[in-house]
Parts: sequence; C-alpha cells; structure tokens
Amino acid sequence: MQLWLHLMNLLLPILSWYLRFSHQISIILNSGASPQNGSAFDFIVVGSGPGGSAVAGRIAKLHSVLLLEAGAPAHLMQGIPILFPAFQDTPYDWSFLTERQSQTMALLEDRRTRWSAGKALGGGSAINAMISLRGNAKDYDEWREMGNPGWGYQDVLPYFKKSETFKGYPFDSR
Ligand SMILES: Cc1cc2nc3c(=O)[nH]c(=O)nc-3n(C[C@H](O)[C@H](O)[C@H](O)COP(=O)(O)OP(=O)(O)OC[C@H]3O[C@@H](n4cnc5c(N)ncnc54)[C@H](O)[C@@H]3O)c2cc1C
Repeated sequence: MQLWLHLMNLLLPILSWYLRFSHQISIILNSGASPQNGSAFDFIVVGSGPGGSAVAGRIAKLHSVLLLEAGAPAHLMQGIPILFPAFQDTPYDWSFLTERQSQTMALLEDRRTRWSAGKALGGGSAINAMISLRGNAKDYDEWREMGNPGWGYQDVLPYFKKSETFKGYPFDSR
C-alpha cells in the first residue's frame, strides 16, 4: 500500500504537467470547431456535464441543438478511473475554493479548501472517479411526499435503468 502511495505521489505531478500540455494542444487543434456565423439551432444547451449532455442528446433526436461547453474536448486519460486525481487543479478543473469555514478546515490556509468541478466536454464526469451509484430511495420518496408527484423512487427507477448499460452485475436486484 505504501509503495503504491509513493508511486502515485511520483506519478501525479508528471501526469498533471502532461495534462496542462495536452490541454494547450487540444485548444489549438479544436480552434475551428465553433459554429460558423449565421448557423441556426432550435435549442442551445449550456454546459456539457452529465445533465446538459443528457438533455442535448434527447433534444437532438428531434431538433437541432447547439451544446456549448466552456472547457476543452475530452482527454484520452479520462477513461481511466484511477487517474482522476491527476485532473484536479489542471485546466480541466474549475479549481474552485470553498468559502472560509468557521467550524472545519482549521488546519488549512484561511480555512478554505479546493472544490473541484469538471471544465471539459463531459463536465464532472470527465474528471470524476466513475463510481456509479443510484440515488438513495428514501430521498426520492421524501421529495414525492413533499408534494412532487412523479419523483418517488419507483417513479424514477425506470429512468435509472434506461440510462444504465453496465452488464457485469445484476443491478435489477434493487
Ligand atoms: C473530483 C470529483 C469526483 C467525483 N466522483 C464521482 C463518482 O465517482 N461518481 C459519481 O457519480 N459522481 C462523481 N462526482 C460528481 C459528478 O461528477 C457530478 O455530480 C456531475 O458531474 C454533475 O453533473 P452536472 O451536469 O450537473 O454538472 P457538471 O458536471 O459540473 O457540468 C457542468 C458543465 O457546464 C460547463 N459550464 C459551466 N459554466 C459554463 C458556461 N458559462 N458556458 C459553457 N459551459 C459552462 C462546465 O465546464 C461543465 O462542463 C465527482 C465530482 C468530482 C468533481
């Protein structure tokens, strides 16, 4: 375990440098990818995170849609879950800082900590650990009970299943 940690400590700065370099290259290579003056679209979706991409994908089945993303195109290494820490604090990360915390973060400078958020095609899913979990059933049921028909767990479960393509485990058991 310790050897693994040492290895990661050594590798992460190198990967991080490589990501900064390839970010610059991808900006240059994709500089012509913007829509041309005069292009018209039925819908414009801002942000290509899991939310925006799903919305744009659905709309694109029937209409033309422009998906705007502030960050860079996806990077090859984004498909390797264990490398997700290498993307933090690179141009693929908005690198936000939390507000000053009064009760926690006592050992950090100004009691603030880094708050990563993906800045790339795919949004957070481009820099996250790719752990897939359905939401907690109780949360959905509570939202329905608060007066939101259609938001109970059994209501949303078919949509979870519709979006899941992983075949290695019997997810239907839940
Ligand atoms: C380090 C990290 C690890 C995580 N690990 C996991 C995990 O293992 N499993 C999991 O399920 N979830 C994980 N998450 C959470 C998950 O990634 C987020 O919940 C998810 O990405 C949120 O999706 P979203 O579409 O709401 O927003 P986001 O993914 O944040 O997407 C918003 C997009 O909008 C773009 N944008 C913002 N402003 C503008 C603008 N003005 N113009 C154009 N584009 C703009 C951003 O660049 C971004 O691409 C993790 C998150 C982080 C940061």
